[in-house]
Parts: sequence; structure tokens; C-alpha cells
Amino acid sequence: MDLGIKGKRALVCASSKGLGFGCAEALAEAGVDLVMNARGAEALEAAAADLRARFGVAIETVAADVTTPEGQAQVLKAAEGVDILVTNAGGPPPGMWSDWDRDDFIKALDANMLAPIALMKALLPGMMEKGWGRVVNITSQSVKAPIAVLGLSNSARAGLTGYVAGTARQVAGSGVTINNLQPGIHATDRAISLDTGVANQQGISIEEAKANRCATIPAGRYGTSQEFGATCAFLCSQHAGFIVGQNVLLDGGAVNSTM
Ligand code: NAD
Repeated sequence: MDLGIKGKRALVCASSKGLGFGCAEALAEAGVDLVMNARGAEALEAAAADLRARFGVAIETVAADVTTPEGQAQVLKAAEGVDILVTNAGGPPPGMWSDWDRDDFIKALDANMLAPIALMKALLPGMMEKGWGRVVNITSQSVKAPIAVLGLSNSARAGLTGYVAGTARQVAGSGVTINNLQPGIHATDRAISLDTGVANQQGISIEEAKANRCATIPAGRYGTSQEFGATCAFLCSQHAGFIVGQNVLLDGGAVNSTM
């Protein structure tokens, strides 16, 4: 399917690997020029070189922490006037409700709520002026069905989801859509780190932890960053202009609910 976005320009945050990279890859395949961001310059440059070589699109890179005001300023300087924004950052660490204090919550809010909001606030006016834009926020299945040990994530991402629900409806009339993708477990470094935590806690191997988790997923496996990226690219396509303020769950059926 022709996504109809060849020649557009996108900012994809936290995209040197994992789900962010999957989104950058699928957009590059659709002919979209990119601004890619991640903290570490080396992995970021390697990811950008890979996509330039495979898809021939123009790619700028910004090595910066997108959760800080300084990092956001650097990213926004390169991304001025983009048509598409994909927000993403690392997820908060697991723990217990009794462990977290104010500073932990502020860190989680900065990363998984306030950073995407700041980027939207900066980039939405340009999209609205042009009469076309797409925003996709990478959130989590934990917004729909809480993962108790990820309470910091549950909280911060629920805040972002509430913000998007209202804002998406305020900008839709200007041809700009905002939607969220809710990943369930995907085979990325984040999943390895979560499985390592479970393995250490339960005294089992990482393979056993992964097999136990797979047994709870109707699809019987982890998702891939390619599947995730393809869904993101569709939400950024011409065809998705009537999808507004939605939360799309990609979880292999793990959340057991009718709607
Ligand atoms: P990952 O660890 O594989 O990749 C994270 C990417 O983000 C890397 O490119 C890293 O350099 C970059 N990054 C991290 N913090 C950053 C920052 N502050 N500024 C700029 N770049 C930063 O992780 P992933 O699996 O791709 O997860 C992406 C997001 O989706 C995370 O927030 C994660 O919590 C969430 N999520 C992942 C899963 C999963 O199963 N993989 C499930 C639910 C939610």
C-alpha cells in the first residue's frame, strides 16, 4: 500500500533501536525524511546510516536526552517544520509503590508525559498552519491494564493519554491527528531488561522468564519492532486522517478485554 507520505519529514525520538527504530525504519521505507534522536551518538549514527543506505532518504541526527529542556531545544532546532512527530523515550524502572518518592515521579513525568507534551506544543502550530500533520506517541499497554511493578509508567503515561484525548480533538479540524500506540511486550532491549529483572527475582533463567511471559500472550510470542513500526507508519499515512485521539493496543491479545 502506498502510504502517500513520500517526501514528508518526521521527527522520531529515541530511535537508535527498539520500537523507535522500528517507527523510523517504516517511515523511511515510505519515503519520509527523518530527524532521528537518541542519547548515544554512536548507535544513533549507525542506525541512521543503515536507513540512509537502505531507503535513500535524508536523515539528520541529534544525540541528546529528549527528557530535558536542553535536549528538547536541540531536537526542536533540527526538527523545525516537520510534518510528523513520533514521541518516545526510555521507560521508568520497575519497583514497589512504597519505594517511589517525589523525585522518582518527577523523572517519570518528565520522560513519559511532559517531554512529549513539550514537543507537541512546539510542533503542532507548524502542522496546523500547513493543514496537515501526524503525531504518534509511544505509550504502553500499562495505560489500559496496569502493570503493578511499573507504577511510575502507569501514572505518567495515563497523564499523557488524558492530555492527548482532549488536545487531539482541538487540532483535528486543522488536518492534524494525534494518536497513541500502546505496546505490549516486544522483543527489544527493554524486554530483555524486564525479563532479567523477573529472572533475578524468581531465581530462574531469562529464557524461562520469557517462556512464562509468552504463555500469558494469546499470540504466544513477543511482538517485533517491524510490526510496531508498520502500525506507526499507517497512523502517519494519508489513509489515517480520520483516526483521532485513539489508543491502539499492540499486545498479541495479552489484555483480556472485549473493547
Ligand atoms: P529500548 O530500550 O529498546 O530502546 C529505547 C530507545 O530510546 C533507544 O534508542 C535509546 O537510546 C532511546 N532513549 C532512551 N531514553 C532516551 C532519552 N532520554 N532521550 C533520547 N533517547 C532515549 O526500548 P523499547 O523497547 O524500544 O521501548 C520504547 C518505549 O516503549 C519505552 O518507553 C518503553 O518503556 C515502552 N514500552 C516498551 C515495551 C516493550 O516490550 N519493548 C512495552 C511497553 C512499553
